[in-house]
Amino acid sequence: MEKELQHQLEALLLKDSGKALQILSVQSVPGGSINDAFRLDTTAGRFFLKTNSATKFPGMFEAELAGLNLLRETGTVKVPRVISTGNTGKTTWLLMEFLEAGRLQKSAWGRLGSDLASLHRETHAMFGLGQNNYMGSLRQVNTPHGTWAEFYILCRLEPQLRLAHESELLSSLQLRKIEHIFPRLSEIIPIEPPSLLHGDLWNGNRITGSDGFYWLIDPAVYYGHREADLAMTRLFGGFAPEFYDAYSAVFPLQSGYEQRVGIHNLYPLLIHLNLFGTGYLGQVMEAVNSI
Ligand code: ADP
Repeated sequence: MEKELQHQLEALLLKDSGKALQILSVQSVPGGSINDAFRLDTTAGRFFLKTNSATKFPGMFEAELAGLNLLRETGTVKVPRVISTGNTGKTTWLLMEFLEAGRLQKSAWGRLGSDLASLHRETHAMFGLGQNNYMGSLRQVNTPHGTWAEFYILCRLEPQLRLAHESELLSSLQLRKIEHIFPRLSEIIPIEPPSLLHGDLWNGNRITGSDGFYWLIDPAVYYGHREADLAMTRLFGGFAPEFYDAYSAVFPLQSGYEQRVGIHNLYPLLIHLNLFGTGYLGQVMEAVNSI
């Protein structure tokens, strides 16, 4: 580990715990797609550290810290406690509570469903957020708008469509076909107040702790349409039926939600197209055709 990073972490942990401590070992944690992840064993216990180049993704960890704290402060969903973020000039880092892995208890699905529904009851006057953040390694613009359709088009679909077209991942014809659905979005998607969303709710961002309960990691939070979080749980599957039942018992969905999954998943699919290439084009066009 870089000496400066070690000094910063030891000074921080001293402040956090009030005790001088030493980092005993640093083990790489697999599974991250963008950042390097590590388990730190220290004389004051275990911590989870993510690092990246200080210049590659400006503000990414500050935004992740703010998002995790925003979710945590609602007292609804379980997210790890974040200790701090910092920068050595060369490396940017994010330090948080280490979650020991466990086996999922069956009741955890219901708890996640009802907790997510409670999170979605957290509302705001506008769709968006006071700060921009990232979805994966792509910048996510959160400029507030008064309607979901306006926000979804201007802050979610258009920036990704522009990027895909400029990178020649999407032809002009395909771009026009997708833009053609814009005027219909406000009719298709029912009006709901803005909900605080996790924003990147796929199965890989749900981990099981030693207590057998779920924890949510790696959010891309903003106030949005709650169906977007739920649609994303279906993109790569893995969420149990008990999750959806418990969600609906607390905060029932409006009718026709099943038919709107494609339109909501158009955004994460465009993100995948831009991050991983034309392997996702088929699913993008399928989502458009479902509308
Ligand atoms: P990235 O931002 O690169 O996608 P993640 O936040 O997904 O990285 O973390 C990488 C891996 O580290 C995850 O797949 C998960 O298994 C593990 N992980 C994430 N947060 C914690 C944590 N607080 N404690 C223990 N393991 C974690």
